[in-house]
Amino acid sequence: MNSKKENILNESVQFVKGVGPKRAESFESIGIKTIRDLLFYFPSKHLDRSTTLTIAKAYSYLLDGYDGEITIIAEITNKDRIRFGKREIITVSFKDSTGNFNCVWFHGIKYIYDVFQEGKTYAVSGKPIRSKYGDMQIIHPDYDRISENETKSYLNTGKIIPFYRIPKNIKSVNLGDFSIRRIINNVVEKYADFLPETLPEYIIKQNDLFNINDAVKNMHFPISSELFKKSVKRLKFEEIFYLEILIALRKYQYKNKLTGVVMNINNTLLKDFINFLPFTLTDDQKKTLKDILSDMKHQQPMNRLIQGDVGSGKTIVVLIAMIIAADNGYQAVMMAPTEILADQHYKNISTLLKEFSNKHKKDHIQTSLLLGGQNKKERETVLNDITKGKSKIIIGTHALLEEKVSFNKLGLLIVDEQHRFGVEQRATLMKKGKIPDVIVMSATPIPRTLSMTLYADLDISVIKQLPKGRKKIKTVLRSTTKLPDIYKYILDKAFSGIQSFIVYPLVEDSEKLELKSAEAFFESLTKTYFKKIKVGLLHGRMNWKEKEKIMQQFKEHKFDVLISTTVIEVGIDIPNANIILINEAQRFGISQLHQLRGRVGRSDKQAVCILVTDEKNMKYKLKDGLKIEYLSSAQKNIYKSSIRLNSMVKSSDGFKLAEIDLKLRGPGDIFGTKQSGMPELNFIDIVHDTDIIEHAKGIAFKIIQGDINLRNENNKLIKQNLINNYSSHFNYPKIA
Ligand code: ADP
Ligand code: MG
Repeated sequence: MNSKKENILNESVQFVKGVGPKRAESFESIGIKTIRDLLFYFPSKHLDRSTTLTIAKAYSYLLDGYDGEITIIAEITNKDRIRFGKREIITVSFKDSTGNFNCVWFHGIKYIYDVFQEGKTYAVSGKPIRSKYGDMQIIHPDYDRISENETKSYLNTGKIIPFYRIPKNIKSVNLGDFSIRRIINNVVEKYADFLPETLPEYIIKQNDLFNINDAVKNMHFPISSELFKKSVKRLKFEEIFYLEILIALRKYQYKNKLTGVVMNINNTLLKDFINFLPFTLTDDQKKTLKDILSDMKHQQPMNRLIQGDVGSGKTIVVLIAMIIAADNGYQAVMMAPTEILADQHYKNISTLLKEFSNKHKKDHIQTSLLLGGQNKKERETVLNDITKGKSKIIIGTHALLEEKVSFNKLGLLIVDEQHRFGVEQRATLMKKGKIPDVIVMSATPIPRTLSMTLYADLDISVIKQLPKGRKKIKTVLRSTTKLPDIYKYILDKAFSGIQSFIVYPLVEDSEKLELKSAEAFFESLTKTYFKKIKVGLLHGRMNWKEKEKIMQQFKEHKFDVLISTTVIEVGIDIPNANIILINEAQRFGISQLHQLRGRVGRSDKQAVCILVTDEKNMKYKLKDGLKIEYLSSAQKNIYKSSIRLNSMVKSSDGFKLAEIDLKLRGPGDIFGTKQSGMPELNFIDIVHDTDIIEHAKGIAFKIIQGDINLRNENNKLIKQNLINNYSSHFNYPKIA
């Protein structure tokens, strides 16, 4: 590598032709300091002005209704400054051998007047229109002066032209489309060839990629749209390739360099417990259990994600793993995002274990519950049992993360509804053991592109099947005006013994308002439609004991209807509730709706989910092309709401819904790279670039599997580039 040339790239933009100290300062304010930065300041769009037309041809296009951009090369015959009261405009007349036309400017008058000279030839590009006299005009066209034999001067017209984002503070130093184009053109011509290659030769060859120099050149000034696409492909590939390299390092450094716990699988215990269950495991549950047990047997630490649809029965699978851990003398801990969910897990698990030990005359496995809201005495006892190793299975919330919680011998860590926790919280809990096996569970399925990126360092087991005998939940979308009928329906069902949830959304994120609205509905409903049945109320401002009491009463059928805010969103399992009414359903995201719907249909009875919204949110149906760029933002919201709601009606497949959700929401808020400690993605579109992601992932993972320290001659460049450009992202994997 020529380090002298590379050093030039690190020089300040100040020394670039046309920049100088003042412009350099404003460039710096948008993060462009060096020549290299400017090379990588790519255009936000290109316009294809490569079709040059004669004036007559352009006019006939215009008459045919063409409304795109065109380029015309013509000579100036006349220029005029015309005054209308205080305002002034300029018209410039052009001719070629086929006809003539005008260009008009409303501002920049003095400058424009000086630029254009009669008798000289220019290329002008823009969208032609017909003036009120019927002749052709272009308003504020882009232009280049054409001096004979000098094709170079086609910088702003006549080919594919880059447009750069020009933030305010850059405009203020007189940088506009033309000047920035000229500056970047200088930089690209002079310095793009100095950029050192960042991908190994063999990868470039095998994947038919541009080298970095050609890629950068064609990102700015492509000769054809094919070459531009090829540049984008190279940059996308490189970006996702290095991300996958980092993820592969994370995965294999963790697996191969750390020594985890080794557990024995007691097959009699396993069989007894599975036989003891009141149901048979589904094939997917069995397969997932097999993956988990195989990980537990091995010294390599387990780091596994269980992806399952709502109600697919993830809990029972991890419970079996916890029993095996306890049987090996280890403690197993399960962290859940809410107190009622933790409490529910605790109740179900401890009851099941008690019954099991009674039946098989085995020692009882002690189970403990740790929550933030427990009183001091309760808490002391639990903490003591954990420290002494008396409790083997520990279930809790964030309270488990506190410093006071110290385990006796932590061997297995389970995170339920993992999306509610950050990577760091998981790490905090992991550090409380030596190197425990880790299982994380997702609340709803994860889109494929995310399982290939954000979650690619984990091994993944999928539970797609629902337990046998479950009926598909019937989902309907109803207008708010139908609420009286819906209440009557719920009332009827209550008389025949079927329980219902009625859910209200969080209003403007305020717990106070939330409480008010749920309470108000409770008041009015219990006085009217539901006068004759029992109704319970559950909301986020209750402490967990109150919530737990209400949930328990609902479970024991002391209420027919439970009015609730979204506190019931995740995990809650009440098999006898078969109807859920979701109010203002347009306020919820798809995965939240899918989660809420998953609260019912947990038995063999037919369940019903009623989504209620205003009429206007119901009109758009799910179609393949989700093209909404042209809608106003209010229309967009309505469009997205109705797609979400109609998708819910149409599909009960969480995997499908997750993909639709990703498309609707776009990549921005989903990828959450900050939280994952991974570099940001500038080129890759996590929604649409599935193929390239999969391809790059395959290559990157193969490289790391075969050469975990990147010692092969072939891969030296990768290692060097990681050290140069990604050092802040691999605090976790260390390359030896
Ligand atoms: P999720 O995957 O949404 O967390 P749960 O673990 O809460 O689902 O399980 C949902 C319900 O299904 C629970 O009541 C559980 O006991 C029950 N269940 C789990 N596995 C089976 C099975 N194989 N057959 C029948 N019911 C099952
Ligand atoms: Mg669950």
